[in-house]
Parts: sequence; structure tokens; C-alpha cells
Amino acid sequence: MPFGPNGRRCRVCGCTQANACAGGCSWEDEDLCSTCHAAAIEVAGWLMEAVRPSWAALRREAERIAGDTPIPYALTEKGKAHAR
Ligand SMILES: [Zn+2]
Ligand SMILES: [Zn+2]
Repeated sequence: MPFGPNGRRCRVCGCTQANACAGGCSWEDEDLCSTCHAAAIEVAGWLMEAVRPSWAALRREAERIAGDTPIPYALTEKGKAHAR
């Protein structure tokens, strides 16, 4: 997987300038894109508020929601969130 033209690559999802997230993203940090930054903020809130946060359960739920989305999501490129 080549690096973007300017060498930046999201440390979470691996998107680059040339291969941005499906909904489009921008740089929130040196190596963190806006898509992952927004997700991290959501997850941080969940971690602080949920009684007993379970990553497996959250991932299952997120994948269920993504599966219900009519737009095919491009998050599966690395096969990480690809359950089918
Ligand atoms: Zn990202
Ligand atoms: Zn991105």
C-alpha cells in the first residue's frame, strides 16, 4: 500500500491523500483523518459512559449498522471489518 503523495497516512484507517475515506476526509492531526477522529470521539464518550464497554459487542453492532447501510462501505479494504 503506497503512501500518499505527501507521505501522510491515517494511523487508524490507513487512508491517504490519494485514497481518502468513502465520505471524504481531511487531516485532523499529523496522521489522523477526520473520519477516525470523529469515530474516536464517539468511542471515547462510549468508553466513559457505558457500564461495561465491550469492544466485541460494539464492533458487532457497528458492523450490523454498516451492513444495513445501502451505500457499500469502503472500510473493508483491509478485510478488518469485512465479515462477509
Ligand atoms: Zn482514518
Ligand atoms: Zn480518512
